[in-house]
This record gives sequence, C-alpha cells and structure tokens, in this order.
Amino acid sequence: MTDAPGKPDLLDILACPECKGPLKRIDGGKKLLCPACHLAYPVTADGVPVLLSEEAENHEPGAA
Ligand SMILES: [Zn+2]
Repeated sequence: MTDAPGKPDLLDILACPECKGPLKRIDGGKKLLCPACHLAYPVTADGVPVLLSEEAENHEPGAA
C-alpha cells in the first residue's frame, strides 16, 4: 500500500494533541512522532492515527 497521488497527506492536517505541533512519520508510517514532545502516536492497521496522549509512547531521542 502506497500513498496515491492526489490523496491529501494526513500529515498536513494532523497535529500533536499536546502541543499542536507538526507530526512526522516513523517506523515506516506505523507511528507518528511529535519531535517537540518526544511522543510517538500509534497508527492503526487501517492507517488511522490515534492522537490520544494516553495512547502515545515516550520516544526519547538516543534512549537505549
Ligand atoms: Zn507535541
């Protein structure tokens, strides 16, 4: 499954619920990272981002 041309990129309209900042795809699109909060939001198998802070994982840069 790839992004179809002409399909609006969800990342253009999605924002971190914590800081309202832009999100970035990680793990091949399976998660959305907020670089400002160091939180990674899960994306369901259907490609629906779960932008709930209680569902987010800490994603500390450089953490082991
Ligand atoms: Zn954030």
